Amino acid sequence: MVIFMKIICDTHVHSDNSFDGESSVLEICNAACEKGLNTVIITDHMEAPDIKLGDKSPYGNMKESISKSVSDVESLAFEFKDKLKLLKGMELGEPMHVPKLTKKALDIADFDFILASVHNLKDMEDFYYLEYNEKNVYPLLDKYFDEILDTAQNADFDSLAHLTYPLRYIYERTDIKPDMDRYSEIIDEIFYTLIKRDKALEINTSGLFKEINSTLPGINMIKRFKELGGKYITVGSDAHNCKNLAQGIEEGIELAKTCGFEYYTVFENREPKLIEIWY
Ligand SMILES: [Zn+2]
Ligand SMILES: [Zn+2]
Repeated sequence: MVIFMKIICDTHVHSDNSFDGESSVLEICNAACEKGLNTVIITDHMEAPDIKLGDKSPYGNMKESISKSVSDVESLAFEFKDKLKLLKGMELGEPMHVPKLTKKALDIADFDFILASVHNLKDMEDFYYLEYNEKNVYPLLDKYFDEILDTAQNADFDSLAHLTYPLRYIYERTDIKPDMDRYSEIIDEIFYTLIKRDKALEINTSGLFKEINSTLPGINMIKRFKELGGKYITVGSDAHNCKNLAQGIEEGIELAKTCGFEYYTVFENREPKLIEIWY
């Protein structure tokens, strides 16, 4: 289905049902209307391996918080139906670490959209908490891309979130600028896999406002995805409060156009809808 309208959608947004989110779904809906957005997908965190920890997870009881996120979205979607399309998503962390728990997470609701993320390597902490130095950067990135490939090949999701996530923190905390050419082969394999499985690649705009000063992934990888035959691009701000809602979305959409995409994608009922880029 192709929609021909000037519309702005933010497909990666956290509410206060995420451990690190600050705004309620209602506040996000009001902000979205003020900012003139057409569609918002609430994608609260679900670190799948933590389901088994229940209340003992450092992120809180994730099954309960995702259920609450879904019920908030369902009730407000109706209330805002004339002004805004509000959809049920989930940012599914580490889907390949414990596939049985991932299945449980996916069964919590009939989601519109699943983002797949790798925030931490198996048996390690989130890249956010790691310390980086010349010695460990490449070994960590090697493992990161291996896990991303496994996710692309085997996980149940719609769009691959913030590819190159560790760079966000490496740039923020060190002067190391890892050479991404080293990963061109595995990145091609990741992209071929996404294309073959009809999955999308996310342009995450949060990095535009951080030290790295680039979307995640950056322009070269987005261009490469297109060159290899990539069809579906989703654009998300990864906002954790109303203020950052849709931040960088128009730049992200423009970037998709620069890289050769005529459409970006919003998933509804886990089906891709192509939206013409109006620039
Ligand atoms: Zn994330
Ligand atoms: Zn996120």
